[in-house]
Amino acid sequence: MPVGEFELIERYFRDRGARRADVLLGVGDDAAIVRVPPDQELVLALDVINGGIHFPDGSAGAAVGHRALAVNLSDLAAMGADPAWALLGLSLPAADEAWIADFADGFAGLANRFGVAWVGGDTTRGPLSASVMAAGLVPVAQALRRAGAIPGDEVWVSGTPGDAAAGLALLQGRIRSAAPARAELVRRFEYPEPRVGLGCSLRGIASACIDVSDGLAGDLGRLCAASGVGAELDAARLPLSPALLAAAGPDSARVFALTGGDDYELLFTAPPVMRPRLEARAGGPQLSRIGTIVTGAGVCVSGAPPGCEPGHGFDHFARGPADSR
Ligand code: ADP
Ligand code: MG
Repeated sequence: MPVGEFELIERYFRDRGARRADVLLGVGDDAAIVRVPPDQELVLALDVINGGIHFPDGSAGAAVGHRALAVNLSDLAAMGADPAWALLGLSLPAADEAWIADFADGFAGLANRFGVAWVGGDTTRGPLSASVMAAGLVPVAQALRRAGAIPGDEVWVSGTPGDAAAGLALLQGRIRSAAPARAELVRRFEYPEPRVGLGCSLRGIASACIDVSDGLAGDLGRLCAASGVGAELDAARLPLSPALLAAAGPDSARVFALTGGDDYELLFTAPPVMRPRLEARAGGPQLSRIGTIVTGAGVCVSGAPPGCEPGHGFDHFARGPADSR
């Protein structure tokens, strides 16, 4: 490496995230020390992203830095936790300083925006990979979980799922689109927005929650399995962005929304009595009611478009049209 590991850390990683009074010791010692308030629980998440697998080779440093932290903040959001601290394990094939500076900007930019202190990590040479451990706080016994949905609960999703998967398909040349829609969808893939504020605001409202990383229908299946229930999704209620509709058309847009990954939207359930509060919510991402929790197991999709085959993230879609709720 033209520049040494310690210089890299000093130059690009030190004192970059948010400043927090609860950080007693940050980058520079053998480990960080933080203070956890007695009325809070510590929520921990770790996600690894690898070049060529979780992001395309040749991705801009800022996009990779952003993604590395965003996917972890999304996991904390799905738990209803307020993010506080992060550690980064970065493996780099070579010290391309411009790329590293860009990566650090992407990571630190998101960290600062959500008040996350970047308290340490490890830097090694190897295939391009970023492992982040993020930690957050939630008031005692208020964390959201995948388990907790009961029959009669309504299924909600934030934002417009499918955009990120279409953005990746555009980058990979699997679909084509005109400039404005293309730029919007690629941005949605490269810079996923973790739904931190929403996750925290769902404490005491949502009965179960998961973030959509592998595809809406499949992730709903995981929430259902954890809760011991089934779900009926109404494909006609899926919120589809104008950009996705422009790039993919209505049928294909629904396939992207149901099965595409990398959205990092929140998928949650809530009893019908919470509907007015969710509908009245001001600010933050759009929320859409897309289905109902039922007894049994598995996810049924009514009105699923052609091309949505079982195994693409959900079990079957055999039931009739959803009742109009
Ligand atoms: P050690 O050998 O004791 O594990 P390191 O040389 O790996 O220490 O790290 C020195 C300091 O720099 C530590 O405080 C560590 O947390 C920090 N550090 C190393 N890599 C990173 C990184 N990628 N991001 C943030 N901090 C880092
Ligand atoms: Mg040490």
